[in-house]
Amino acid sequence: MKATVLALEQYNQPLVRREVEIPALAKGQVLVKLTAAGVCGSDVHMWKGEDSRLRLPMVLGHEGVGIVAALGGPKLTIDGKELHEGDPVIWNRGVSCGECYYCKVLKETSFCPRRKVVGINLSLNDPPYLNGCFADHIILAEGTDFYLIPPGIDPAVLVTASCSGATAAHAFDLVRPEPGETVVIIGPGPLGLFAVALAKAYGAGQVVLTGGSQSRLGLGKVFGADLVLDRNKLSAAERRELIFEITGGRGADMIVETSGTAAGLEEAIGLTRMGGSVLSVGASQPGGTFLFDGFEDLTRRNLRLQGVWVSDARHFDRAVRLVLNNPDLFAKMVTHRFRLSQANEALAAVDRREAVKAILLPD
Ligand code: ZN
Ligand code: ZN
Repeated sequence: MKATVLALEQYNQPLVRREVEIPALAKGQVLVKLTAAGVCGSDVHMWKGEDSRLRLPMVLGHEGVGIVAALGGPKLTIDGKELHEGDPVIWNRGVSCGECYYCKVLKETSFCPRRKVVGINLSLNDPPYLNGCFADHIILAEGTDFYLIPPGIDPAVLVTASCSGATAAHAFDLVRPEPGETVVIIGPGPLGLFAVALAKAYGAGQVVLTGGSQSRLGLGKVFGADLVLDRNKLSAAERRELIFEITGGRGADMIVETSGTAAGLEEAIGLTRMGGSVLSVGASQPGGTFLFDGFEDLTRRNLRLQGVWVSDARHFDRAVRLVLNNPDLFAKMVTHRFRLSQANEALAAVDRREAVKAILLPD
C-alpha cells in the first residue's frame, strides 16, 4: 500500500506530490490516516529555508489529527486507554528521548537534543519515511503521546491545539495572572488568540489585545479580549498611555508577546508595571535585536523576562482540553480550509497573512 505525501524538495519551490510505500510498522509505531493538518506560520518559514533544523527532502506539517490505521503492538493513550484501529486521535508533535539531562533531571523535554518532531527535523529519507502531516498518512514513533478524540469534534478545529495552543499553554504554565490582573497580548494570530482565551480562563480581569488587522482584532474580542488596540490607528505612545490609564498608572501585570519581533518585545517592556512579567512566546526564527537598559528596564523594576520555547505533553494536554471545552469558539479561528493537493495555496494564504488558521483536509 502506498501513501501520498507533499514533499518539500527545494526551498521556495512548490511542494511536490510523491507516492511512498508504507513500510511494515516497527514495535510501538502507529500508522495514522490524516483527517486534518494545520498549516503553521513556521511551515512558511521552513518552506523558505529559514529553519536550520530541516533536512530535505522532507514532508512539512507538525500539526495533525487522524484515525488510527494500524498499530505496531499495544499502545496506550496519554490517559491510559488502549488504542485501536479506527480510533480518532490527536498527538503531541515531539518525542523526546526520556534519558538525557534535560529529560530526566530538568524535566524540560523540549530541550532534549534527541527530540524528534514530525514535520520539522525528520527527513523523507529517515525511516519510517512518513514523517509529516502534509500527507494522507503519517507514522508516529514509539513514545508519541496520543489523545482519543470524543465523538462530534471537527478535526480541523482540534488540530489548532497541537502547536500554537500548546505553546500558549506553556507560557501560562510559566507565568500566570493573579485573578483580576491586566494581561496585554501582542499579536492577534493563533498564538495570541489562544493567549486571550487562556488569560481569561486563568482569571485575568482585563485582557488587552494589540495588532494590525481589524478582522483578527475582531476575532480577539470574540475570544474574550476586553480591549483591542489597532496599531495602524494608535501610535506606540498612545497605546502605552491607554494601558497605563486602565491600570491605575502602573502598567500591565503581564505581557504576552507573540509577534516574534524586536519591536514587539521592546514595546512589551515599556508596557509592564514594576515587578511585572514579559513573555516572549513562539517566535520560530530570529526577529531582530533591540537595546534595553539593564538597570532602568530590568533590575530596578524587578521585571521578569521569560522566554517560551515550544511545549511538552503537559501543555499539549491543557490546549486539547481548552479546545474540547469550547469547540465552537475555536472553530472561528479556522478561517481557511484547503484540500491536501492545495497545500501550496494554503502555504501562500498563510504567508500573505490572509488566513488566521489554514487547515488541510484529505483529497
Ligand atoms: Zn507550529
Ligand atoms: Zn532527552
